Amino acid sequence: MSGNEMKYIQEAFDTNWIAPLGTNVDKFEEEMCEYVGVDHALALSSGTAGIHLALKYYGVGPGDYVFCSDLTFAGSCNPILYQYANPVFIDSEPETWNMSPIALEKAFEWAKTENKMPKAVIIVDLYGQSADYDQLLPICKKYGVPVIEDAAEALGATYKGKKCGTFGDISIFSFNGNKIITTSGGGMVVSNDEEAIKKMRFWSTQSREATRHYEHKEVGYNYRMSNICAGIGRGQLELLESRIFTKKSIFENYNNKFENNPIELMPISDKGTPNYWLSVLTIKSDYPVTTEQILLQLEKENIEARPVWKPMHMQNLFEECSFFSHNNNELPCVSQILFETGICLPSGSTLKGTEQDTIIQLIKVLY
Ligand SMILES: *Cc1c(COP(=O)(O)O)cnc(C)c1O
Repeated sequence: MSGNEMKYIQEAFDTNWIAPLGTNVDKFEEEMCEYVGVDHALALSSGTAGIHLALKYYGVGPGDYVFCSDLTFAGSCNPILYQYANPVFIDSEPETWNMSPIALEKAFEWAKTENKMPKAVIIVDLYGQSADYDQLLPICKKYGVPVIEDAAEALGATYKGKKCGTFGDISIFSFNGNKIITTSGGGMVVSNDEEAIKKMRFWSTQSREATRHYEHKEVGYNYRMSNICAGIGRGQLELLESRIFTKKSIFENYNNKFENNPIELMPISDKGTPNYWLSVLTIKSDYPVTTEQILLQLEKENIEARPVWKPMHMQNLFEECSFFSHNNNELPCVSQILFETGICLPSGSTLKGTEQDTIIQLIKVLY
Protein backbone atom coordinates (compact mmCIF):
# COMPACT_ATOMS: atom_id res chain seq x y z
CA MET A 1 0.00 0.00 0.00
CA SER A 2 1.18 3.56 -0.69
CA GLY A 3 -0.43 5.14 2.37
CA ASN A 4 -2.92 7.25 0.44
CA GLU A 5 -5.38 4.36 0.17
CA MET A 6 -6.57 5.05 3.74
CA LYS A 7 -7.08 8.72 2.92
CA TYR A 8 -9.47 7.86 0.09
CA ILE A 9 -11.21 5.19 2.17
CA GLN A 10 -11.59 7.71 4.99
CA GLU A 11 -13.22 10.14 2.56
CA ALA A 12 -15.71 7.43 1.63
CA PHE A 13 -16.50 6.85 5.31
CA ASP A 14 -16.70 10.58 6.08
CA THR A 15 -19.18 11.16 3.26
CA ASN A 16 -20.98 7.85 4.03
CA TRP A 17 -20.65 6.55 0.46
CA ILE A 18 -20.16 2.85 1.32
CA ALA A 19 -21.75 1.70 -1.92
CA PRO A 20 -20.93 0.62 -5.47
CA LEU A 21 -20.93 4.29 -6.41
CA GLY A 22 -19.45 7.53 -5.06
CA THR A 23 -16.60 9.96 -5.60
CA ASN A 24 -13.83 7.37 -5.47
CA VAL A 25 -15.47 5.31 -8.22
CA ASP A 26 -15.90 8.37 -10.47
CA LYS A 27 -12.39 9.65 -9.77
CA PHE A 28 -10.76 6.25 -10.21
CA GLU A 29 -12.40 5.96 -13.63
CA GLU A 30 -11.20 9.45 -14.60
CA GLU A 31 -7.68 8.82 -13.33
CA MET A 32 -7.48 5.53 -15.24
CA CYS A 33 -8.67 7.24 -18.45
CA GLU A 34 -5.97 9.83 -18.08
CA TYR A 35 -3.23 7.35 -17.21
CA VAL A 36 -4.03 4.87 -20.01
CA GLY A 37 -5.01 7.48 -22.60
CA VAL A 38 -8.61 6.48 -23.32
CA ASP A 39 -11.87 8.42 -23.29
CA HIS A 40 -14.15 6.25 -21.14
CA ALA A 41 -13.86 3.77 -18.27
CA LEU A 42 -16.17 1.63 -16.16
CA ALA A 43 -15.05 0.32 -12.77
CA LEU A 44 -16.20 -3.24 -12.04
CA SER A 45 -16.01 -5.97 -9.41
CA SER A 46 -13.48 -7.95 -11.48
CA GLY A 47 -11.60 -8.13 -14.77
CA THR A 48 -13.55 -11.27 -15.63
CA ALA A 49 -16.79 -9.26 -15.34
CA GLY A 50 -15.29 -6.80 -17.83
CA ILE A 51 -14.61 -9.52 -20.39
CA HIS A 52 -18.12 -10.88 -19.87
CA LEU A 53 -19.73 -7.48 -20.54
CA ALA A 54 -17.50 -6.85 -23.58
CA LEU A 55 -18.51 -10.21 -25.09
CA LYS A 56 -22.15 -9.40 -24.47
CA TYR A 57 -21.68 -6.00 -26.12
CA TYR A 58 -20.37 -7.70 -29.26
CA GLY A 59 -23.45 -9.90 -29.31
CA VAL A 60 -21.78 -13.17 -28.33
CA GLY A 61 -24.47 -15.75 -27.61
CA PRO A 62 -25.17 -19.50 -27.67
CA GLY A 63 -23.31 -21.34 -30.43
CA ASP A 64 -21.15 -18.35 -31.45
CA TYR A 65 -17.37 -18.53 -31.75
CA VAL A 66 -14.79 -16.38 -29.95
CA PHE A 67 -11.03 -16.54 -30.58
CA CYS A 68 -8.82 -16.23 -27.49
CA SER A 69 -5.13 -16.42 -26.57
CA ASP A 70 -4.29 -19.99 -25.52
CA LEU A 71 -1.59 -19.21 -22.95
CA THR A 72 -3.50 -17.29 -20.30
CA PHE A 73 -5.43 -17.44 -17.05
CA ALA A 74 -8.93 -18.98 -17.22
CA GLY A 75 -10.45 -15.57 -16.42
CA SER A 76 -9.80 -14.60 -20.06
CA CYS A 77 -12.08 -17.28 -21.49
CA ASN A 78 -14.53 -18.44 -18.79
CA PRO A 79 -16.88 -15.59 -19.84
CA ILE A 80 -17.12 -17.16 -23.32
CA LEU A 81 -18.78 -20.12 -21.60
CA TYR A 82 -21.05 -17.82 -19.54
CA GLN A 83 -22.51 -16.79 -22.91
CA TYR A 84 -22.74 -20.46 -24.06
CA ALA A 85 -20.36 -19.70 -26.93
CA ASN A 86 -17.40 -21.74 -28.24
CA PRO A 87 -13.83 -20.66 -27.48
CA VAL A 88 -11.21 -21.23 -30.18
CA PHE A 89 -7.68 -21.03 -28.82
CA ILE A 90 -4.77 -19.38 -30.61
CA ASP A 91 -1.17 -20.36 -29.84
CA SER A 92 1.64 -18.02 -28.72
CA GLU A 93 4.54 -16.77 -30.78
CA PRO A 94 8.04 -17.23 -29.30
CA GLU A 95 8.97 -13.49 -29.39
CA THR A 96 6.59 -12.20 -26.68
CA TRP A 97 4.64 -15.38 -25.76
CA ASN A 98 1.50 -13.53 -26.87
CA MET A 99 -0.98 -14.44 -29.62
CA SER A 100 0.76 -15.66 -32.77
CA PRO A 101 -0.26 -13.78 -35.95
CA ILE A 102 0.50 -16.96 -37.91
CA ALA A 103 -1.86 -19.06 -35.77
CA LEU A 104 -4.49 -16.28 -35.86
CA GLU A 105 -4.44 -16.20 -39.66
CA LYS A 106 -4.80 -20.01 -39.75
CA ALA A 107 -7.81 -19.79 -37.42
CA PHE A 108 -9.51 -17.15 -39.58
CA GLU A 109 -8.98 -19.21 -42.72
CA TRP A 110 -10.54 -22.19 -40.97
CA ALA A 111 -13.43 -20.04 -39.72
CA LYS A 112 -14.06 -18.73 -43.20
CA THR A 113 -14.26 -22.15 -44.85
CA GLU A 114 -16.24 -23.69 -41.96
CA ASN A 115 -18.57 -20.70 -41.65
CA LYS A 116 -17.54 -20.19 -38.02
CA MET A 117 -16.49 -16.53 -38.04
CA PRO A 118 -15.88 -15.34 -34.46
CA LYS A 119 -17.90 -12.50 -32.94
CA ALA A 120 -14.76 -11.23 -31.13
CA VAL A 121 -11.05 -11.92 -30.61
CA ILE A 122 -9.66 -11.75 -27.05
CA ILE A 123 -5.96 -10.84 -27.15
CA VAL A 124 -4.02 -11.16 -23.87
CA ASP A 125 -0.97 -9.06 -22.89
CA LEU A 126 0.78 -11.84 -21.00
CA TYR A 127 2.88 -11.37 -17.87
CA GLY A 128 2.91 -7.61 -18.34
CA GLN A 129 4.11 -7.51 -21.96
CA SER A 130 2.11 -6.20 -24.92
CA ALA A 131 1.06 -8.43 -27.78
CA ASP A 132 2.34 -7.45 -31.24
CA TYR A 133 -0.66 -5.35 -32.29
CA ASP A 134 0.79 -4.11 -35.59
CA GLN A 135 0.69 -7.74 -36.70
CA LEU A 136 -2.57 -8.81 -35.02
CA LEU A 137 -4.95 -5.87 -35.51
CA PRO A 138 -4.79 -5.77 -39.34
CA ILE A 139 -5.75 -9.47 -39.45
CA CYS A 140 -8.81 -8.90 -37.23
CA LYS A 141 -9.69 -5.81 -39.26
CA LYS A 142 -9.44 -7.69 -42.55
CA TYR A 143 -12.12 -10.09 -41.28
CA GLY A 144 -14.12 -7.29 -39.61
CA VAL A 145 -14.00 -8.78 -36.12
CA PRO A 146 -13.72 -6.58 -32.97
CA VAL A 147 -10.83 -7.00 -30.53
CA ILE A 148 -11.12 -7.27 -26.75
CA GLU A 149 -7.73 -6.54 -25.20
CA ASP A 150 -7.21 -8.47 -21.97
CA ALA A 151 -4.65 -6.19 -20.32
CA ALA A 152 -5.39 -7.62 -16.85
CA GLU A 153 -1.67 -8.24 -16.28
CA ALA A 154 -0.32 -5.30 -18.26
CA LEU A 155 -1.37 -2.00 -16.66
CA GLY A 156 1.44 0.47 -17.36
CA ALA A 157 3.06 -1.55 -20.18
CA THR A 158 3.49 0.12 -23.57
CA TYR A 159 3.68 -0.88 -27.24
CA LYS A 160 5.25 1.58 -29.70
CA GLY A 161 4.74 4.40 -27.21
CA LYS A 162 1.08 3.70 -26.47
CA LYS A 163 -0.23 2.12 -23.28
CA CYS A 164 -1.69 -1.37 -23.16
CA GLY A 165 -5.45 -1.01 -22.92
CA THR A 166 -5.59 1.29 -25.96
CA PHE A 167 -5.39 -1.48 -28.58
CA GLY A 168 -8.68 -3.27 -28.08
CA ASP A 169 -12.01 -1.87 -29.29
CA ILE A 170 -12.79 -2.59 -25.65
CA SER A 171 -9.98 -3.34 -23.17
CA ILE A 172 -10.00 -4.65 -19.64
CA PHE A 173 -7.80 -4.42 -16.54
CA SER A 174 -7.82 -6.40 -13.32
CA PHE A 175 -7.11 -5.18 -9.78
CA ASN A 176 -7.20 -8.63 -8.22
CA GLY A 177 -4.86 -9.14 -5.26
CA ASN A 178 -2.12 -10.70 -7.39
CA LYS A 179 -1.91 -7.96 -10.04
CA ILE A 180 0.61 -5.09 -10.24
CA ILE A 181 -1.82 -2.82 -8.39
CA THR A 182 -4.87 -4.04 -6.50
CA THR A 183 -8.19 -2.91 -5.10
CA SER A 184 -8.31 -6.25 -3.17
CA GLY A 185 -10.57 -7.37 -6.01
CA GLY A 186 -11.82 -5.39 -8.98
CA GLY A 187 -11.52 -4.59 -12.63
CA MET A 188 -12.11 -1.93 -15.25
CA VAL A 189 -13.18 -1.76 -18.87
CA VAL A 190 -11.89 1.10 -20.97
CA SER A 191 -12.80 2.19 -24.48
CA ASN A 192 -13.10 5.18 -26.78
CA ASP A 193 -16.52 3.83 -27.72
CA GLU A 194 -18.88 5.85 -25.52
CA GLU A 195 -21.94 3.80 -26.51
CA ALA A 196 -20.19 0.57 -25.47
CA ILE A 197 -19.28 1.90 -22.03
CA LYS A 198 -22.78 3.27 -21.53
CA LYS A 199 -24.39 -0.05 -22.38
CA MET A 200 -21.98 -2.05 -20.19
CA ARG A 201 -22.60 0.38 -17.31
CA PHE A 202 -26.33 -0.33 -17.64
CA TRP A 203 -25.85 -4.12 -17.61
CA SER A 204 -23.40 -3.92 -14.68
CA THR A 205 -26.06 -2.32 -12.46
CA GLN A 206 -28.79 -4.95 -12.99
CA SER A 207 -30.08 -3.29 -16.19
CA ARG A 208 -32.31 -0.97 -14.24
CA GLU A 209 -34.34 1.27 -16.55
CA ALA A 210 -34.45 5.03 -15.93
CA THR A 211 -37.83 5.02 -14.19
CA ARG A 212 -38.86 5.87 -10.62
CA HIS A 213 -39.86 2.29 -9.85
CA TYR A 214 -37.65 -0.77 -10.52
CA GLU A 215 -38.24 -1.53 -14.19
CA HIS A 216 -36.27 -4.25 -16.03
CA LYS A 217 -36.38 -5.20 -19.71
CA GLU A 218 -33.03 -6.98 -19.99
CA VAL A 219 -30.99 -9.35 -17.88
CA GLY A 220 -28.44 -7.54 -15.72
CA TYR A 221 -25.50 -8.20 -13.41
CA ASN A 222 -24.22 -6.92 -10.09
CA TYR A 223 -20.77 -6.07 -11.40
CA ARG A 224 -19.96 -2.55 -10.13
CA MET A 225 -16.92 -1.70 -8.02
CA SER A 226 -17.50 -0.48 -4.47
CA ASN A 227 -16.50 3.04 -3.47
CA ILE A 228 -14.19 1.57 -0.80
CA CYS A 229 -12.31 -0.61 -3.31
CA ALA A 230 -12.06 2.34 -5.71
CA GLY A 231 -10.42 4.31 -2.87
CA ILE A 232 -7.74 1.63 -2.60
CA GLY A 233 -7.33 1.75 -6.39
CA ARG A 234 -6.75 5.52 -6.38
CA GLY A 235 -3.99 5.18 -3.78
CA GLN A 236 -2.47 2.27 -5.68
CA LEU A 237 -2.48 4.04 -9.05
CA GLU A 238 -0.25 6.73 -7.53
CA LEU A 239 2.51 4.19 -6.94
CA LEU A 240 2.21 2.25 -10.19
CA GLU A 241 5.21 3.90 -11.88
CA SER A 242 7.52 3.29 -8.91
CA ARG A 243 6.32 -0.30 -8.70
CA ILE A 244 7.14 -0.86 -12.39
CA PHE A 245 10.61 0.56 -11.69
CA THR A 246 11.14 -1.86 -8.78
CA LYS A 247 9.85 -4.84 -10.72
CA LYS A 248 12.07 -3.97 -13.66
CA SER A 249 15.15 -4.08 -11.43
CA ILE A 250 14.04 -7.44 -10.00
CA PHE A 251 13.71 -8.77 -13.56
CA GLU A 252 17.07 -7.35 -14.61
CA ASN A 253 18.80 -8.84 -11.58
CA TYR A 254 17.47 -12.32 -12.42
CA ASN A 255 18.38 -11.75 -16.05
CA ASN A 256 21.99 -10.76 -15.32
CA LYS A 257 22.61 -13.51 -12.80
CA PHE A 258 21.19 -16.27 -15.01
CA GLU A 259 23.21 -15.08 -18.02
CA ASN A 260 25.25 -17.82 -19.71
CA ASN A 261 23.18 -20.39 -17.85
CA PRO A 262 20.78 -23.03 -19.12
CA ILE A 263 18.00 -20.67 -18.05
CA GLU A 264 16.47 -17.73 -19.92
CA LEU A 265 14.09 -15.01 -18.76
CA MET A 266 10.99 -14.18 -20.81
CA PRO A 267 12.13 -12.39 -23.99
CA ILE A 268 11.48 -8.64 -23.96
CA SER A 269 10.41 -7.24 -27.32
CA ASP A 270 12.02 -3.97 -28.41
CA LYS A 271 8.61 -2.78 -29.66
CA GLY A 272 7.46 -1.89 -26.16
CA THR A 273 8.15 -1.64 -22.45
CA PRO A 274 6.63 -4.27 -20.13
CA ASN A 275 5.44 -3.54 -16.60
CA TYR A 276 7.54 -6.52 -15.42
CA TRP A 277 4.57 -7.87 -13.42
CA LEU A 278 6.23 -11.30 -13.10
CA SER A 279 9.75 -12.48 -13.83
CA VAL A 280 9.35 -15.75 -15.71
CA LEU A 281 12.15 -18.16 -16.64
CA THR A 282 12.32 -21.02 -19.11
CA ILE A 283 14.77 -23.90 -19.07
CA LYS A 284 16.63 -24.21 -22.36
CA SER A 285 15.63 -27.21 -24.47
CA ASP A 286 18.80 -29.31 -24.22
CA TYR A 287 19.00 -29.07 -20.45
CA PRO A 288 18.03 -32.00 -18.18
CA VAL A 289 16.68 -30.12 -15.11
CA THR A 290 12.85 -30.06 -14.97
CA THR A 291 10.56 -27.30 -13.75
CA GLU A 292 9.37 -29.72 -11.05
CA GLN A 293 12.94 -30.01 -9.68
CA ILE A 294 13.27 -26.23 -9.47
CA LEU A 295 9.86 -25.83 -7.83
CA LEU A 296 10.70 -28.52 -5.23
CA GLN A 297 14.11 -27.01 -4.57
CA LEU A 298 12.48 -23.63 -3.78
CA GLU A 299 9.61 -25.21 -1.86
CA LYS A 300 12.09 -26.87 0.52
CA GLU A 301 13.09 -23.36 1.62
CA ASN A 302 9.46 -22.28 1.85
CA ILE A 303 9.75 -20.16 -1.33
CA GLU A 304 6.69 -20.14 -3.54
CA ALA A 305 7.04 -20.27 -7.31
CA ARG A 306 4.56 -21.49 -9.91
CA PRO A 307 4.56 -23.05 -13.35
CA VAL A 308 3.60 -20.86 -16.30
CA TRP A 309 -0.18 -20.81 -17.03
CA LYS A 310 -1.32 -24.19 -18.31
CA PRO A 311 -2.53 -23.57 -21.88
CA MET A 312 -6.30 -23.48 -22.23
CA HIS A 313 -6.39 -26.09 -25.05
CA MET A 314 -4.75 -28.56 -22.60
CA GLN A 315 -7.44 -28.03 -19.93
CA ASN A 316 -10.16 -30.62 -19.38
CA LEU A 317 -12.77 -27.86 -19.40
CA PHE A 318 -11.85 -26.82 -22.95
CA GLU A 319 -10.93 -30.22 -24.37
CA GLU A 320 -13.60 -30.05 -27.12
CA CYS A 321 -12.46 -26.62 -28.34
CA SER A 322 -10.55 -25.96 -31.56
CA PHE A 323 -6.94 -24.86 -31.30
CA PHE A 324 -4.49 -23.38 -33.82
CA SER A 325 -0.75 -23.82 -33.40
CA HIS A 326 2.00 -21.40 -34.35
CA ASN A 327 4.08 -24.37 -35.52
CA ASN A 328 3.57 -27.06 -38.14
CA ASN A 329 1.73 -30.12 -36.97
CA GLU A 330 4.89 -32.23 -36.48
CA LEU A 331 6.15 -29.85 -33.79
CA PRO A 332 4.67 -29.23 -30.34
CA CYS A 333 2.94 -25.88 -30.05
CA VAL A 334 4.65 -22.87 -28.43
CA SER A 335 2.27 -22.57 -25.46
CA GLN A 336 2.84 -26.21 -24.46
CA ILE A 337 6.64 -25.81 -24.61
CA LEU A 338 6.39 -22.69 -22.42
CA PHE A 339 4.19 -24.53 -19.93
CA GLU A 340 6.59 -27.46 -19.73
CA THR A 341 9.74 -25.35 -19.35
CA GLY A 342 8.54 -22.16 -17.63
CA ILE A 343 8.43 -20.97 -14.02
CA CYS A 344 7.09 -17.70 -12.57
CA LEU A 345 9.70 -16.61 -10.04
CA PRO A 346 9.02 -14.65 -6.87
CA SER A 347 8.58 -11.11 -8.23
CA GLY A 348 6.84 -9.10 -5.51
CA SER A 349 7.83 -5.46 -5.19
CA THR A 350 8.85 -6.08 -1.54
CA LEU A 351 11.34 -8.81 -2.49
CA LYS A 352 14.70 -8.00 -0.89
CA GLY A 353 18.03 -8.27 -2.73
CA THR A 354 19.28 -10.90 -0.29
CA GLU A 355 16.12 -12.94 -0.77
CA GLN A 356 16.52 -12.78 -4.52
CA ASP A 357 20.15 -13.94 -4.21
CA THR A 358 18.97 -16.95 -2.19
CA ILE A 359 16.48 -17.87 -4.92
CA ILE A 360 19.13 -17.56 -7.64
CA GLN A 361 21.64 -19.66 -5.66
CA LEU A 362 19.08 -22.41 -4.94
CA ILE A 363 18.41 -22.72 -8.67
CA LYS A 364 22.06 -22.50 -9.70
CA VAL A 365 23.15 -25.42 -7.47
CA LEU A 366 20.93 -27.66 -9.59
CA TYR A 367 23.37 -27.41 -12.50
C1 LIG B 1 -6.30 -11.88 -13.51
C2 LIG B 1 -6.64 -12.09 -14.92
C3 LIG B 1 -7.95 -12.04 -15.39
C4 LIG B 1 -9.14 -11.93 -14.48
O1 LIG B 1 -9.18 -10.82 -13.68
P1 LIG B 1 -10.03 -10.87 -12.31
O2 LIG B 1 -10.04 -9.46 -11.85
O3 LIG B 1 -9.28 -11.78 -11.39
O4 LIG B 1 -11.38 -11.38 -12.64
C5 LIG B 1 -8.19 -12.16 -16.74
N1 LIG B 1 -7.20 -12.35 -17.60
C6 LIG B 1 -5.91 -12.43 -17.21
C7 LIG B 1 -4.85 -12.61 -18.24
C8 LIG B 1 -5.59 -12.34 -15.85
O5 LIG B 1 -4.31 -12.46 -15.47
